[in-house]
Amino acid sequence: MRCRQAQSLVGAFIKDELDDEQLKEFLDHIENCADCYEELEVSYMVTEGLAALDHDVTGTFDLKKSLQNVIRSRRKRLALGRRRKLRLRIIAALFVIFMIVLLFFYFGGLI
Ligand SMILES: [Zn+2]
Repeated sequence: MRCRQAQSLVGAFIKDELDDEQLKEFLDHIENCADCYEELEVSYMVTEGLAALDHDVTGTFDLKKSLQNVIRSRRKRLALGRRRKLRLRIIAALFVIFMIVLLFFYFGGLI
């Protein structure tokens, strides 16, 4: 992913509107690109800061840390999704093998 594309996805990332593929590429990019990370950080601060004002949140809160938590949780979600997909694929493969064995024995017994 290029900087231009990453920066165009900043808003969608903050609103959590990226699909898994985009999210993975976006995270890979911003974790290795200081410019885009900064862009994300600024947008995040503005967005969350305004939301906090809207909701009369009092007290200080660390938006930089909050963004890092968001990034960490999205990473975790991606990893979990991948594992779930892999598990489904294994179950599907086992089922196909089971059916083949079953059919083999069924028709094998008839012949
Ligand atoms: Zn970049």
